[in-house]
Amino acid sequence: MALEDIRRLQTRLLREHLEFCGKQSPYYRSLPGDFDLSGFQIADLIKIPAADKTILSEKNDMFIAVPEAEIRDISFTSGTIGASCRIAYTESDLDRLAYNDATGFACSGIDRGDRVLLTCTLDRCFIAGLAYFMGARRLGATAIRNGINSLESHADIIMRLKPGAIVGVPSFLRYLGNFLRDNKIDSGCVKRLICIGEPLRDENMETSSLGEQLLQVWSARIFSTYASSEIVTSFTECSAQCGGHLPPDLAVLEILDESGNPLPPGDVGEVTVTPLQVTGMPLIRFRTGDISFMLDSPCRCGRFSPRIGPILGRKAQMLKIKGTTLFPGTFFTALNSSPEIAEYYLEASGDGFSDRIEIFVALKDPGTRLDQVAKRIQAKSRLSVPIREMPMEDVRKKVFSASRKPLRFFDLRAAPAKNIRSADACEFSS
Ligand SMILES: [Zn+2]
Repeated sequence: MALEDIRRLQTRLLREHLEFCGKQSPYYRSLPGDFDLSGFQIADLIKIPAADKTILSEKNDMFIAVPEAEIRDISFTSGTIGASCRIAYTESDLDRLAYNDATGFACSGIDRGDRVLLTCTLDRCFIAGLAYFMGARRLGATAIRNGINSLESHADIIMRLKPGAIVGVPSFLRYLGNFLRDNKIDSGCVKRLICIGEPLRDENMETSSLGEQLLQVWSARIFSTYASSEIVTSFTECSAQCGGHLPPDLAVLEILDESGNPLPPGDVGEVTVTPLQVTGMPLIRFRTGDISFMLDSPCRCGRFSPRIGPILGRKAQMLKIKGTTLFPGTFFTALNSSPEIAEYYLEASGDGFSDRIEIFVALKDPGTRLDQVAKRIQAKSRLSVPIREMPMEDVRKKVFSASRKPLRFFDLRAAPAKNIRSADACEFSS
């Protein structure tokens, strides 16, 4: 669609969405103010207060805009930050979701008749796996729902069914790719990896170290996709692989600064989404807590829809050090690309005015000089950060103290955010 047509379509759907919220949503009915929707433009969105995870959790029932009997699925957000939150979907929301994921798959080049191996769960009240299943089905592709299963079972499926695409978390796909290579299992049938939860690009849109590692172990192209259970919309990379495309009929995208003002394309801020055509739990200007930027230049694939850059971190984990604003992910990136390092974690401390960060590492060869690591961190963060070598046992004890999943960021600041795993810096929140 041409830019003008996108704008016209979005304006019409946005007016319908606002009218629906004003009539049906107890939460939006309770907000003061009355809008003349006939002349409402996208730029007028700023007049409507944004919602976030906190208000959605606190006033959860008030956001449900249909009678209980019309709800077909109840999911929960993962609650990485704050409490988990109930999300209700109607029949038409599930239909919309199927269309959304079919569109995303098609954007990355998956076609009718392709086999898609899903390595994410369909149960445990998560929406992601269900959405990918419905998307594959809607597209006319074949879903293979192996979910969270053993490496051996995925390998067996790859040998027997030869899927052309796999959907999964990049760090898991790296693990699976290494397993296949070590066991001399041919994975050449897999042409596409649809990657959720961890970014494949850095802030300059260059392939991240995790992305590079995937490219080394798979002979597939890698596509990033971003979504969450609240916004029910995914932003998936196309063949040009330079940001996830917004499906223009499903959402309006804004990037907001800390005061809630929209930022121009390229500026880093909070990803804020108004999902369109949602009936169960309609939202206006939902602040996701994820930090990224918008790209609005025409894409090489020919689409004019705006794109979203990689998720650089979560707002609650934002660090302010000596006037520089950055996220734990910046350090994770530098440390992940350091071959000297076997294991690591970060500690943030501070009084609310300026944060301090300290990095604790276990080295593959204890006693190796840390100059190169320090240089990489400085190049990525423009900061000189203390790095302390620790015995492997101590670092592992800390990183794996809470669960089998590694925790690599420990927030000891005055108002601490929850401690996070490296992958959670950008976790797919459904
Ligand atoms: Zn494109």
